[in-house]
Amino acid sequence: NAPAETRKFEAEVAQVLHLVTHSLYSHKEIFLRELISNASDACDKLRFESIANPALSAGDSELHIDVSWDPDARTVTVHDNGIGMTRDEVVANIGTIASSGTKRFLEAMSGEQKADARLIGQFGVGFYSAFVVADKVTVITRRADAPESGGVKWESDGKGEYSLEQVDQPQRGTSVILHLKADEDEFLKRWQLRSLITKYSDHVAFPIRMPQEKDDKPTDEFETINAASALWTKPKSEISDEDYQSFYKSLGHDFNDALAWTHNRVEGSQSFTTLLYLPSQPPFDLMMGGRDERKGLKLYIKRVFIMDAAEELLPNYLRFVRGVVDADDLPLNVSREILQHNRQLDRIKAACVKRVLDLIEKLARDEPEKFHTFYKAFGNTLKEGISEDANNRERIAKLLRFASTKGEGTAQNVSLDDYIGRMAVGQDAIWYITADSYAAAAGSPQLEAFKAKDIEVLLMSDRIDEWMIGSLSEYDGKKLKSVAKGDVPLDEADKKKQEEATKEAEPLLKKLKDLLGDRVGDVKVSARLTDSPSCLALSDYEMAPHLARLLREAGQ
Ligand code: ADP
Ligand code: MG
Repeated sequence: NAPAETRKFEAEVAQVLHLVTHSLYSHKEIFLRELISNASDACDKLRFESIANPALSAGDSELHIDVSWDPDARTVTVHDNGIGMTRDEVVANIGTIASSGTKRFLEAMSGEQKADARLIGQFGVGFYSAFVVADKVTVITRRADAPESGGVKWESDGKGEYSLEQVDQPQRGTSVILHLKADEDEFLKRWQLRSLITKYSDHVAFPIRMPQEKDDKPTDEFETINAASALWTKPKSEISDEDYQSFYKSLGHDFNDALAWTHNRVEGSQSFTTLLYLPSQPPFDLMMGGRDERKGLKLYIKRVFIMDAAEELLPNYLRFVRGVVDADDLPLNVSREILQHNRQLDRIKAACVKRVLDLIEKLARDEPEKFHTFYKAFGNTLKEGISEDANNRERIAKLLRFASTKGEGTAQNVSLDDYIGRMAVGQDAIWYITADSYAAAAGSPQLEAFKAKDIEVLLMSDRIDEWMIGSLSEYDGKKLKSVAKGDVPLDEADKKKQEEATKEAEPLLKKLKDLLGDRVGDVKVSARLTDSPSCLALSDYEMAPHLARLLREAGQ
């Protein structure tokens, strides 16, 4: 039997400990998440090893994690009946810097960013975060396949040394006992620990239990306080619509039912699960440009909540989407900064976009009423994608709906495909007009020639349309053209007529040009009008008047 001994931490460990305890202070509550996550990993490992060796969990097969507190001893304990550790494993895992993540962490921290709390906690410093709130940590552990006498007690004040001792330990698993620093009494309160568990670890797949409380003291009665099942990890066939809806509401911020959802698991070199919802109503601030991080997507890594990461996981034009992404292969302590430059995450993001667009397309195809609800709520937000997401421009454009001279009044329900399907033989462009209002668009004299020739014109009057259309010059091989710009489409007879008219009107045109001077670029005979005597027109490269006005309003 190995004797009790005291060892020095590796130089690197001492360095990490020093940094962690001095820098993580503003995020100190994460220690609980870290310890629970380790406990959950230990249960995962036992579960896995038990497949080949059922004896490992025989007699105690209900895996769980217990979080308890002792107001007299001033300790918080996280216990699991998972795989446990041997003496060598304890030394290797928590006495040295084994993980490459920690090495990277050290490198990152050795520069000017020392003591930057946002950087810290993103690499494998999990266990050491215990020393942010504790001035002494005791680990008592026994590996599942070790004899009762094979227990190990590890203890340290986190200053440079730790002690190791062999102990008898009837049960397998690990207890991490935090002896709280003098000013950390807040963690001796049940409700505080409980709310941290609910906040960060609700979807850990193992039951997290806490003792019940009597007279401010823990009793021997334990109750499970987390949901203990990550809904999205279940097979779709086992999840009812009600389950999906209640989970949607548990995400918060919406009392209404979700409109639709898409739930997918990707297996492979990189595995992840996405559960994405479309709300049925827009939040009131949707079009204010801002987005509320808390109302978007939650990133989990192996069922452990990491952060709200809508911005990292979805482009801005899909900011109305809610839900969960659970990645298997990201480091648990990944930071926002790291996420923003992570190639794995780029792939997950692309998958999220694809799933959402698939879902919207499916609504458009199979559930027109739901699609209409969606479009009313989020159509204008979606339009931002035309310029924001060039890769998906065609897909997004296919989903857009407009009012039209051949549509049903103000209703926006004509798709670009509908338009193309009605195009006359020889027509090569999709014509549109933008204006401040439907009435202004529909009543514009610019439309006269198109009406006379029975050419459909899309009537765009949402504020974003002019801006959006600037990024949509083509769809399905057809150019999109403004009726207010350039020349209207003419056939041979028209052209001849126009030439004659121009010749005839030459003296008049000259007189008008002289009269109007600099106020116009040119005066032309046009086939644009049939009833009105004249109208203003733009050259191909001019800004539409109401866009110019919008920009002026925005102070541009
Ligand atoms: P990480 O979890 O990223 O590996 P940590 O610092 O959180 O880093 O933990 C270091 C290692 O200590 C773990 O990888 C694991 O091998 C071991 N460990 C920590 N807590 C436990 C536990 N409750 N049961 C078994 N092993 C543990
Ligand atoms: Mg960990």
